[in-house]
Amino acid sequence: MMQAGETRTQTGVKVIVVGAGLAGLSAACILARDGYHVQVLEKNEQVGGRARQYTAEGFVFDMGPSWYWMPSVFESFFNRFEKSASDYYDLVKLDPGFQIIFGQDETLPLPADVREIHSLFEQIERGASGRLAEFLKAGKRKYEVSMSEFIYLPAHSIFEFAKINLLREAWQLDLLKPFDKYVARYFKDPKLRALMEFPVLFLGAKPRQIPALYSIMNYSALAEGTWYPMGGMHQMIEGFASLAAELGVEILTSSEVKNVRTEGRDITAVETENNVFEADFFIGAADYHHFETLLPESKRNYSEQYWERRTMSPSSLLFYVGVDGKLPRLEHHNLFFDTDFTLHAHEIYDEPAWPTDPQFYVCCPSKTDPSVAPAGKENLFFLMPIAPGLEDTPETRETYFDLMLKRTEAFCGVSFRDRIVYKRSYCILDFESDYHAYKGNAYGLANTLRQTAILKPKMKNRHLDNLLYTGQLTVPGPGMPPAVISGVIAGKEVQKIKSKYTTV
Ligand SMILES: Cc1cc2nc3c(=O)[nH]c(=O)nc-3n(C[C@H](O)[C@H](O)[C@H](O)COP(=O)(O)OP(=O)(O)OC[C@H]3O[C@@H](n4cnc5c(N)ncnc54)[C@H](O)[C@@H]3O)c2cc1C
Repeated sequence: MMQAGETRTQTGVKVIVVGAGLAGLSAACILARDGYHVQVLEKNEQVGGRARQYTAEGFVFDMGPSWYWMPSVFESFFNRFEKSASDYYDLVKLDPGFQIIFGQDETLPLPADVREIHSLFEQIERGASGRLAEFLKAGKRKYEVSMSEFIYLPAHSIFEFAKINLLREAWQLDLLKPFDKYVARYFKDPKLRALMEFPVLFLGAKPRQIPALYSIMNYSALAEGTWYPMGGMHQMIEGFASLAAELGVEILTSSEVKNVRTEGRDITAVETENNVFEADFFIGAADYHHFETLLPESKRNYSEQYWERRTMSPSSLLFYVGVDGKLPRLEHHNLFFDTDFTLHAHEIYDEPAWPTDPQFYVCCPSKTDPSVAPAGKENLFFLMPIAPGLEDTPETRETYFDLMLKRTEAFCGVSFRDRIVYKRSYCILDFESDYHAYKGNAYGLANTLRQTAILKPKMKNRHLDNLLYTGQLTVPGPGMPPAVISGVIAGKEVQKIKSKYTTV
């Protein structure tokens, strides 16, 4: 399948990765290091996918992720290349890691220091410090087992788990127990429970539906802390892109794949508007559902009905806002949990509707990083989780901006509506047009028990031998650390089947 004049690297195998989000970049690095000739085709002008960044009026806005958790996952990724994250970006540990706002005068800032976290827990609930110690001990074990045994499995079949007695281990570690029951075993106070349960909201379902396996996120948030790459989250993406370039990966931006050519059990080429790219192996690192729509129907792993039946993670209504003047009381991460989440959760997961009385999140990175806002100004990012697939109109967006702004102003104790010097919204229609996101989802599939491990959309295409999928819609799931891991798994899976495609 080589074209005349094209150069081969050691393996003689050319791989095309479609999509330059974290998963695509991660897979590309793994493959290039092992001697594959890797080209990445990216639809947008910038790499990073949901973790893109843009600049306007002197403000630097990260467009998606803002929580840098599980730093060890990123570090171990760079270590595979004898590098460190610090070779590419400067991480700072946030203190407090974040604050939860339960009401005007009721906040819960989470200290960076674990000893201080213990004192805080004890102040809120007698005996909670000891139970936190137990939680962290169990969390550490889960983290180690998950990272060394579960998370990096391709999850093609149940036998991967049975083979190494992992199911027994999973049972013993309570990995499959509902998350809320698991937390309730340790803590009674509703604030402590909210603090322990909120990270799973990133996993796109109610704590009742999420297996306790994901308590490794809380473990990481409490034990490893919440971090921030100076210059914004995109610095981390640039780190991945720089590493890829050092390894010889070619990244072509503004190169949307519009069609996939197949022959028998192989993809032969992918087509962009102006070019045809041939290769031996292909990795679909764009949204899984979208990539499948580029294939002939008979070559897809899943039908439209299958996707209809999936539980998607929420979408989000986002606002990127620049404010003239500094804002009191806000920390870097602020969770407005000052309303009852039961109804909001019901309107996200059970009966999709624009929320009646939503909870939301405000990120203010200019509290940590002066480079993301002009001097004396504040950079704000509002995020309100909503059900995917809702009708998205400019009027609705504004209604909710007004609501979030009023509550933020009330908390800060100052009015700043008149000092907003920049504002842009981003919602379902943008997720669809920018990323081809199914129903405009933000974080892919929810990590419910029924959509975990072997029950996720499979990495391998059943009908095409030279196609794998990676990213937040397949294993291990949504979030930046899982996206990195997903790329590593996909890269290694190509290597397992490479012999068939080695042409030297
Ligand atoms: C608002 C928001 C907040 C988040 N917050 C956090 C957080 O704080 N912490 C955290 O860990 N995670 C967070 N996440 C989740 C995290 O950002 C994602 O899980 C992760 O970045 C997904 O990476 P990916 O590579 O799977 O997908 P993507 O980043 O979506 O990458 C897929 C790429 O494929 C490209 N593509 C699509 N179609 C085509 C095509 N036809 N041809 C070529 N290219 C194509 C897209 O343009 C995109 O660049 C957040 C996500 C969002 C949206």
